[in-house]
Amino acid sequence: MADWPYNTANWKRLRLAHLSLSPFCVGCEARNVLTVANTVDHITAIADGGPPFPGHDGLASYCPPCHGAKTARGTEAGPVRTSKPRRGCKPDGTPLDPTHPWHEKSLAADQTRPMVYLHSQLVRDLTDG
Ligand SMILES: [Zn+2]
Repeated sequence: MADWPYNTANWKRLRLAHLSLSPFCVGCEARNVLTVANTVDHITAIADGGPPFPGHDGLASYCPPCHGAKTARGTEAGPVRTSKPRRGCKPDGTPLDPTHPWHEKSLAADQTRPMVYLHSQLVRDLTDG
């Protein structure tokens, strides 16, 4: 979390005012659970162009676990913004990330011959020689 605007007196006032207006976690409320909130979240993240000091309709109260889950899923989550390739692959070994360099190589390779054929050809070449 960036320091600004959370280190300002304006934010501290706005946060307390919002928690007094909306004291329960909206994430838990959606599951019919009442949990006292202690975190005030920007519905539209500042990083996404949301105002740093929105009205109460631009804020939501959360408990720490729900806020953590929300920010991990949301656009403010770091990994979502990264340009690194997405990790992991399908059962056949194809990378999940469509921009992975492997896909460029596979386009250049002979698409009519599956990897199993290439492997059996290699084994034949080795055993014949
Ligand atoms: Zn909650």
